[in-house]
Amino acid sequence: MRSTAIEAPPTEDIFVPLNFVLFCAIVAATVIGIPLYSHYYGFSRFDWILSFVMYIVTGMGITVGYHRLVAHQSFECSGWLKRCILIAGGWALQNSALKWGGDHIRHHAKTDQEEDPYNASKGFWHSHCGWLFYSTPHRTEKYEIRLRRDPIVMWQHRYYWLIVVTGLLLPFALGVWHGGLHGGIAAFLLGGLFRMFMVLNSTFTINSLCHMIGTQPHGTQDSSRDSWLVSFVSFGEGYHNFHHTYARDFRNGPKWYNFDPSKWIIYTLWLLGLAHNLRRNDPAVG
Ligand SMILES: [Zn+2]
Ligand SMILES: [Zn+2]
Repeated sequence: MRSTAIEAPPTEDIFVPLNFVLFCAIVAATVIGIPLYSHYYGFSRFDWILSFVMYIVTGMGITVGYHRLVAHQSFECSGWLKRCILIAGGWALQNSALKWGGDHIRHHAKTDQEEDPYNASKGFWHSHCGWLFYSTPHRTEKYEIRLRRDPIVMWQHRYYWLIVVTGLLLPFALGVWHGGLHGGIAAFLLGGLFRMFMVLNSTFTINSLCHMIGTQPHGTQDSSRDSWLVSFVSFGEGYHNFHHTYARDFRNGPKWYNFDPSKWIIYTLWLLGLAHNLRRNDPAVG
C-alpha cells in the first residue's frame, strides 16, 4: 500500500488560495449562474428532483459516513457498503474522510480552544467557513492515526479528487441522457454545484449555529447546543450538545421523535443486517 507523506506544519496561519477560489466559484455559480440560467433557459422538474436526490445522498454521505462511521466509529458495516457511503461523502467537496475525520476528532478533543479547527469562540463566520481558507500551525495528523490504519479510508483519500469529479459528471451525464446538452448543463448546475453549495452550508451550520444557539440539556462542558431547527437542514445533526456529550452514539437526536434521518438510516441498515455494533450513550470520541 502506498504511504501518504505528512507535510511539515506551518508556523503561522497561511492563506490557502485553492480552498478560497473553489468556495467562491461554488457561491458564484449558485447566486449568479443559476438565476441567470433559470431566466434564459429554465430548469425542468427532472433537474430539481435529481438535485434533491443528490443532496440527500451526499449529505448522508457526510453525516452517516464521514461523521458517524469514520470519525466516531459509532457503528460498523461491510467494506463494499463503506466504500459506497464514502464515495457519496466525497461528492460533498469537504476533503477526504481521512482529513475530515482528523479535523473533526480534533474539534471534539479541543472544543472552543485555539487548536479547535472550527473554534466557535472566534465568531460565526470563522466557525462556519472562514477556517477553511487557512492552514494553521495546529496539526491534525496525530488525530488521524487510527483512521490511517483503515484501508478503505486510505483508498478514499487516494482517489478523493476522482470521486469529486464523478459527483459532477454523474448529474451532467444524467442530464444529457434526459435532455441533451442543455439538459446536461442544467443538471450540472443544480445537481452538481448548487447541491454542493447546499450540503457545504448544511455541514457548516453544525459547526457555527450549533455552538451558538439552542439549549444545553446534556452539559455545559463546552459551547455545543441542541437545536431541533438546525436538525432539519443537517440530516439530524442539530442535537449537538447530546453529540458532544455522547460522541460515539450512533444517534445525535436520542429520542424517537427527534428529527435525525441519519440515525434512521443507520438503524434501517441494522434491521437489514447491513450494519452492526451500533453504539449508544458512549462518551468516547472515536
Ligand atoms: Zn461541535
Ligand atoms: Zn462529532
